[in-house]
Amino acid sequence: MSDKALVRVEHLNVFFPVRGGLPFEKKKQVEAVCDMTFEIRQGETFGLIGESGCGKTTLANAILGMRPPTSGKVFFKGQDLYALKGKDFKALRRDMQMIFQDPLSSLNPRFDVLDIISEPMQIRGGFSEEEMEARTVELLEMVGLSKEDLHRHPSDFSGGQRQRIGIARAISLHPAFLVCDEPVSALDVSVHAQILNLLMRLQKELGMTYLFISHNLAVVKSICSHMIVMYLGKAMEWGPTDKIYKNPVHPYTRALLDAVLDIDVDNKKEKKLIQGELPSPIDPPKGCRFCTRCEYATEKCRTEAPPTVKVEPGHYCACHFAEGCVSEA
Ligand code: SF4
Repeated sequence: MSDKALVRVEHLNVFFPVRGGLPFEKKKQVEAVCDMTFEIRQGETFGLIGESGCGKTTLANAILGMRPPTSGKVFFKGQDLYALKGKDFKALRRDMQMIFQDPLSSLNPRFDVLDIISEPMQIRGGFSEEEMEARTVELLEMVGLSKEDLHRHPSDFSGGQRQRIGIARAISLHPAFLVCDEPVSALDVSVHAQILNLLMRLQKELGMTYLFISHNLAVVKSICSHMIVMYLGKAMEWGPTDKIYKNPVHPYTRALLDAVLDIDVDNKKEKKLIQGELPSPIDPPKGCRFCTRCEYATEKCRTEAPPTVKVEPGHYCACHFAEGCVSEA
């Protein structure tokens, strides 16, 4: 683990058993996250990109201590998260928080804003009523709301305002690490920039580190320093965001970039869009997981898992035919 790493994920696997089936049948499992290894450095915004159902949220939950892995390790601040128990686990876990995709379903409709934002303080304990109210007002102002909102309920707010309340709750105990799980995808496009600007400002002011989950490549490009492109539970391409955007090597990354809406009407470059559906993670393709949708797939791709290849310093991908790349295997 490098000195600057806040989070390190080592060969993480998260599999779920599939219930049912006949007694003599081999037990099946969903391979939601498969052999993921990476580091998130202190103070950076790290992007996790992929289609819905590719395992991004399961991976985030495993990093946050909410989904014990089948194998592999998660280190946070140099400590093996799943080796800790009781008070030690809770203390470390408190330093990691999450902002959810849908602010409406993540806020209790019966609670007022004071109850919602002060809930983590109540659970932690050690705060008087006055202290919790004062801290809640301070947090409201930090996220662009005001003291007048203290006793209103989630249904009284717009989607963007509800997400601000969710952000205030997530930062109420000064976490070092925040997982932002598609924080703008459920919101009106007109408020995307406001919420992203708010997150960037808070990161600077509070020195937080973000794991930013998204399927919006334009957003990831503008705010993430490093990123992983994930497909069916596995990493396809990873490294510094600017290098991946400048020189995407994996066919899946290229297809995702081609799918981004291009406002340049004169751009005549042929776009290669991905065909077909994401295969079932219960029965993933044997070799390369992308082989059922990759236009370059060969017999080797269908039978052998691709090695990790180095594209350039810090930039890697998993493909048998990454042109001009040096094999790391
Ligand atoms: Fe396509 Fe084969 Fe590369 Fe997989 S290993 S991305 S199937 S060319």
